[in-house]
Amino acid sequence: MSLYGQAKVKNWRYKLKGNFHFTHSPSPIRNVDDSNHLLGITKPRHMIYLHSYGGEAPFFEALSQGKLLGTRCDNPDCEYQGTLYQPFRIHCPDCLARCTTVDMTDLAKTKGYIHTFMICERAGAFNTLDKPIKFVNIEFEGVSTILMSYLSVGDPKIGKRVIPIFKKFDPTYTITDLSWVVEGTTEEQLPHGFCF
Ligand SMILES: [Zn+2]
Repeated sequence: MSLYGQAKVKNWRYKLKGNFHFTHSPSPIRNVDDSNHLLGITKPRHMIYLHSYGGEAPFFEALSQGKLLGTRCDNPDCEYQGTLYQPFRIHCPDCLARCTTVDMTDLAKTKGYIHTFMICERAGAFNTLDKPIKFVNIEFEGVSTILMSYLSVGDPKIGKRVIPIFKKFDPTYTITDLSWVVEGTTEEQLPHGFCF
């Protein structure tokens, strides 16, 4: 059984099981410049945060199944009806109507290009990606927005064709379950747990 608390929803209510708050032994903070006097203590503690995905939940579920979902405004009264969004937008920013979910996996596999990129040698707290991180902004033909993601195999170059890969084995249900590789990458080159 997991040490960490787990959550599920039953009868439309959150049901929590296990520990969600942890404390550890304090340690003294001493002033080494002044006879090592006690100034205070550290209080190690951590907690588990419940992150609700709301209307974006289908997007994350689909990644674990090897699908990339986008959304489209289908409101006939909208000036920009038919606009396709990636990343997934729940509501149309122009008319505020609820967008229609669209499976754009095939489009992503055939019409994705690097719009721009940056390579980061350092990362912030809680980073889980391998360094250097090759961040890529991906442009799709027929899509009005640009997706921020990361390249797992190959060298980024503006205009280069890229193919999505999905962490279908042991998914994390986060955005890092989606990554990209340059065109021509083989299945054997993919990172652990990922497939096309
Ligand atoms: Zn609209």
